[in-house]
Amino acid sequence: MLNVKCSSCGINIETQKNWVEFDCPSCKKTKIIRCERCRKIVNSYECESCKFIGP
Ligand SMILES: [Zn+2]
Ligand SMILES: [Zn+2]
Repeated sequence: MLNVKCSSCGINIETQKNWVEFDCPSCKKTKIIRCERCRKIVNSYECESCKFIGP
């Protein structure tokens, strides 16, 4: 994977270990990517397609 960034903080997840990828819970079209840190601190993310803000 190239230039894949955390949807919350924008960090390049190529340098991260325990990141997750899942479909947007709202539109199910866009992949949301979260790094370990953002999962731990429950950082919010915004879907690029539908502007859904999660978790
Ligand atoms: Zn992050
Ligand atoms: Zn969405």
